[in-house]
Amino acid sequence: MSTPVVSSHPDAPAIGDTRLLIDGERVDAAEGATFDIYNPSTGAVLAQVAEGRKEDIDRAVKAAKRAFEWGPWHDMKPAERAKAIWRLGDLLLEHDAELGGLETLDNGKPFLQAKGGDVVAAAGLFHYMSGWATKIEGSTIPISFPGRFHTYTRREALGVVGLIVPWNFPLTIAAWKCAPALAAGNTIVLKPSEVTPLTALRLGELALEAGIPPGVLNVVPGLGADAGAALTEHPDVAKVSFTGSTATGRAIVRGAVGNLKKVTLELGGKAPNIIMADADVEAAIAGSSDGVFYNQGEACAAASRLFAHRSVYDRVVEGISKAAEAIKVGDGFDPESFIGPLVSKAHHEKVAGYLDLGREQGTVAAGGTYSSEGGWFVKPTVLTDMGDESKVVQEEIFGPVVNVLPFDDTDEVIRRANATPYGLTAGVWTENVGTAHRIAEALQAGTVWVNCYGVFDAAMPYGGFKESGWGREMGGVVLDDYTETKTVCIKVGD
Ligand code: NDP
Repeated sequence: MSTPVVSSHPDAPAIGDTRLLIDGERVDAAEGATFDIYNPSTGAVLAQVAEGRKEDIDRAVKAAKRAFEWGPWHDMKPAERAKAIWRLGDLLLEHDAELGGLETLDNGKPFLQAKGGDVVAAAGLFHYMSGWATKIEGSTIPISFPGRFHTYTRREALGVVGLIVPWNFPLTIAAWKCAPALAAGNTIVLKPSEVTPLTALRLGELALEAGIPPGVLNVVPGLGADAGAALTEHPDVAKVSFTGSTATGRAIVRGAVGNLKKVTLELGGKAPNIIMADADVEAAIAGSSDGVFYNQGEACAAASRLFAHRSVYDRVVEGISKAAEAIKVGDGFDPESFIGPLVSKAHHEKVAGYLDLGREQGTVAAGGTYSSEGGWFVKPTVLTDMGDESKVVQEEIFGPVVNVLPFDDTDEVIRRANATPYGLTAGVWTENVGTAHRIAEALQAGTVWVNCYGVFDAAMPYGGFKESGWGREMGGVVLDDYTETKTVCIKVGD
């Protein structure tokens, strides 16, 4: 089923085997089904990928369960696990051009960003989490119950975890989930998005090469409503970690009810990004432009509501409009492209709908156009004169679109910044340290960036308040979501 390269660009890698990866073997889907994936820069079919369904998810879960309960992974010492996880990080870096190229073919994003950003971040996750494998400790607990006891806690792996990953950062988000799951000793069934399955399949192969035994990391591409739902509902899956839309997040919660599996959700956002009157306005404009347009705006953290103090509002509108106009949009393999096409035809239509609405209801200060044939391109767009309650300001667009909104005072901007159901990320630009701390405390968001935007690091916990999710990715805290605490209480005397 492997398909020859569709792009003639020298950086475009061969696509390789597109079958499922179960128990260390490449296999066809049980029903022999496949689905097409597309090159977003051209709209042409890129490859056929095996379509895992309920039966395949069941096969993968069985393999993961076996690998968890007995065999080399079960018996591996934490230090050996750490070495294999570290090695996987190294292998990602050794294959950075191939993995970056696959991401560009599949998702459309610029190759240089995929290679130098996504792959490096994914490798960083494995390197960081490998260190935790030897440090997942319990504690001894002095209890007051009559008698003499030795009481301690153990932190144990959960078992089989189902990891459901979206299309915007396919490899990086897979790493956010796989790295801590492995560090804690779990086994995995990974379901990538049907739109971007290629790097997840390579990740599974590289895991084997790194010494992670067969059955520990299984990869089953398939459709969300079928394979994704089957994984969520599977009685032998102890936990699901999901990144994607808030609507699908709700479906995951409902699907997980059967065996009350644990659920982590990293959902949508509509991030406020606030430029105060005393900010370094030029730095704020540059950071805000990257904050919203990077990755075509296909980011849950995209800084899509840009609040500018009225005293600097005109400068900000002019500055970010110039920045938007200067951005080169094009094929991801063109080194000049800062943003590539959107990921799919359906997503392009969705974003185009928001642009049409923005044009009707407000003012287009920059961009506002989109391609009508060929690849799924959208111009970076700056909208002004939109009311806070409009759909364009309230809903997650997931495209390169920013609303610039004026404000007059700090209490007002805090109230308006918090006035969405989301609470994932936020930004503040100010030269006053007191203002920075005050606003950082008041914003309902899992991450607040001050005088910067979009800084991610494997050591920084990431996740949402309110309807942006449950639990955290990354940092040491994520290991709480991949372990159970067991209390052992031993009577040692009267
Ligand atoms: P979804 O949330 O539907 O998809 C994310 C992942 O969930 C994919 O792997 C998808 O599979 C899977 N999935 C879909 N339905 C189910 C289900 N019922 N049970 C289990 N898994 C399921 O995102 P979309 O691709 O539909 O994008 C829609 C919108 O979601 C975007 O416009 C954006 O606003 C938001 N989004 C947010 C992301 C974030 O990082 N927070 C990431 C991606 C999207 P499949 O691909 O096969 O449908």
